Amino acid sequence: MSELNPRTTHYEFMGPPGAFAVTFGVPFLTFGLSLACSEASGGCPNSWWDIPPNLIKAVSSLDWWFSLFDLQAFVLYLAWYAFCVVSWAILPGAWVEGSLMRNGQKKLYKINAFSTLLLVLGITGGTLWSKGPAIFTVIYDRWIGLVTASVIMSFAQAFYVYAMSFQPGKLLALGGNSGNFIYDFYIGRELNPSVGSFDIKCFNELRPGLILWAIINFAMACEQYTRLGAVTDSMVLINAFQFFYVADALYNEPSVLTTMDITTDGFGFMLAIGDLAWVPFIYSLQARYLAFHPVELGPVFTSLVLALNVTGYYIFRVANAEKDDFRNGRNPKNLTFMITARGTKLLTSGWWGRSRHPNYLGDLLMSVAWSLTTGFSTPITYFYPVYFLVLLIHRQLRDDENCYKKYGADWEKYKALVPWRIIPYVY
Ligand code: NDP
Repeated sequence: MSELNPRTTHYEFMGPPGAFAVTFGVPFLTFGLSLACSEASGGCPNSWWDIPPNLIKAVSSLDWWFSLFDLQAFVLYLAWYAFCVVSWAILPGAWVEGSLMRNGQKKLYKINAFSTLLLVLGITGGTLWSKGPAIFTVIYDRWIGLVTASVIMSFAQAFYVYAMSFQPGKLLALGGNSGNFIYDFYIGRELNPSVGSFDIKCFNELRPGLILWAIINFAMACEQYTRLGAVTDSMVLINAFQFFYVADALYNEPSVLTTMDITTDGFGFMLAIGDLAWVPFIYSLQARYLAFHPVELGPVFTSLVLALNVTGYYIFRVANAEKDDFRNGRNPKNLTFMITARGTKLLTSGWWGRSRHPNYLGDLLMSVAWSLTTGFSTPITYFYPVYFLVLLIHRQLRDDENCYKKYGADWEKYKALVPWRIIPYVY
């Protein structure tokens, strides 16, 4: 077993101090952005420097501490999570094999995330039809309580999977077996924690967080509608862009099985809080801002933002499809590739010949388009592209290191053929 699960000797994220800082920093930032950019705090500040005073003002009030835990919001969140689990269990779906693991096995994953989204759409549409938009504003009203519920869920799951990873026979993540509790808890000790055939990591990656993000955006549109009697063009755009992004990820669910999160990273606090709290409650910042600060973009600006989003999506989708096809033994465009000593091949033309992470470029362009829907009154709604740029550069560096470990000298050859990391001719 120690051969299969060697000790992790190399730390990422600056080791245990970095893991500790992020474990507390991410919930702090999630609450921070919810508080500092809110109607209750007087809106979204004009500069980043106004955030700390806004935050201090909020947390100095005893009422705020009492508002952190909201039973109704907690029950609502638990009901949502339970709904996603039940949908996974009862909706039909094909069982698809994941990548080959170090123990020589392949896991089976049930593919029905898109059906879950369709079910949610049906229920949402029916509720809107019968009860009107006001019923969805509960999400806006109980925001902080919902954030708290998702943070509690993230901690609970991270503790659970950490404890279960000590059961005999578990396959650990190569990066999550350092023996340091803080680090392994954060990075994820077990590679694929499961309850029976229910894979916790893959489930969290796509369903409870991503679909909730789309629901939150819709709830923000309802909030705006109840105030204005209409929704602005910017609100329509942000809902359409992000819904499309979510629907695309769910529709292409099998693609997630070849991503770094599934094949390499363990499931720990990093992925739990990212999937369950950060994605739905931070990525929806633009729509939440527009709910209390309506912006009309006009036809010219709308067209420009739309063009940027479509370009980003095109690069993101085509690049991901090229790699996904290739990893599944198909090469419909006859792209060139190199054969490595490890046995796997690497594409050297098409989007993967232009840069080593063309999919990140497309994702980044979309993130800028999303923020542009909020206009230019505050820089806070531009948090997402700034954070995302940092995340993707860090992710590219991690993947580069992992690929060097996997491919050795072949990876250096590939890098010589494809020198640009994300943005061709720039980075
Ligand atoms: P990638 O999809 O880029 O996958 C990297 C892996 O692809 C490598 O480890 C390697 O694995 C394989 N690979 C690298 N080069 C080649 C090549 N030339 N030919 C064939 N295979 C190659 O990375 P991620 O898993 O990080 O990202 C997946 C998607 O998720 C991206 O679109 C990204 O933008 C998105 N994303 C979104 C986030 C968000 O919060 N919105 C966060 C993170 C990612 P191997 O060779 O072992 O197959």
